[in-house]
Amino acid sequence: AKRDGKANYHFFEPSLDEQARRRRQMELDLRTAIRDGQFTLHFQPLYSLSEERLKGFEALIRWEHPEHGLVSPVEFIPLAEETGLILPIGEWVVREACRHAATWDGDLSVAVNVSPKQFGSPELATKILQAISTSGIAPQRLELEITESIFIANVEKTLSTLHRLRNLGVKIALDDFGTGYSSLSYLRSFPFDKVKIDRSFVQDLANGGNGHAVIRAITTLAEALGMDTLAEGVEDPGQLDILRREGCRNIQGYLFSKPLQASNVQQWIVEHQG
Ligand code: C2E
Ligand code: CA
Ligand code: CA
Ligand code: CA
Repeated sequence: AKRDGKANYHFFEPSLDEQARRRRQMELDLRTAIRDGQFTLHFQPLYSLSEERLKGFEALIRWEHPEHGLVSPVEFIPLAEETGLILPIGEWVVREACRHAATWDGDLSVAVNVSPKQFGSPELATKILQAISTSGIAPQRLELEITESIFIANVEKTLSTLHRLRNLGVKIALDDFGTGYSSLSYLRSFPFDKVKIDRSFVQDLANGGNGHAVIRAITTLAEALGMDTLAEGVEDPGQLDILRREGCRNIQGYLFSKPLQASNVQQWIVEHQG
């Protein structure tokens, strides 16, 4: 066969028809999943380096598909956003995360990922307030993780929703920091409580180079703006060492713990805060 680069592989890619068919099927499956409650939350510990203690957990959604097993959010969140199904799913995530947090010992925080589409919904703040009051947790324990893409649609409206949520006492974190086009300018536009440094910067630390200078720049800037910092995807002690030295205040990653099943969280808390 002739070697013609990309075209070589084209044969193995699903046709456009096939892709469209799979998409339609997944959308139908997502609707069933919402109806039948096929989602579950895993919780990954967030650890404070400055206080040397467990601070809270990030809620990460999983889909227990009856045929395909556990499906990663990377597979279905984009389609859920496109189809608007992220609204009922996102509502469930907030409710479920608050409900679980209410069962944990202490004042541990619970972080929830909120997608841009949810910010377009006028009901977001109301739903979040409902989830908080039903669960009985202090609003300060709930942290919403947003990415800068929420600003693309409507900056004014997004900012007013953020302020409204902030006034409820909820914390706001800027997720995946540094991966967008203009991360710095968004730091100026809203007083985030926390900046989550994207995993790609942490991975860079292993490759020598000037990765640590980037970490230092971000932590210095965040500190100057009065924002907390957290590094994602910390996998080895070498990375931890540099993060500590460069002043990063919190970490999350396999080194400390993988995401845990909800039913194992309380036990984990007992073991890790003695
Ligand atoms: P994210 O918000 O950046 O979440 C962190 C992801 O990194 C999680 O993947 C987590 O399991 C993974 N991770 C944590 N520590 C490590 C590590 O040390 N090494 C490596 N290689 N990975 C690590 P996950 O759970 O597959 O979630 C992927 C993405 O899906 C999340 O990225 C988030 O953007 C989205 N997502 C998850 N849950 C929700 C949700 O409830 N709502 C929305 N809208 N999006 C969600
Ligand atoms: Ca996140
Ligand atoms: Ca992230
Ligand atoms: Ca990420």
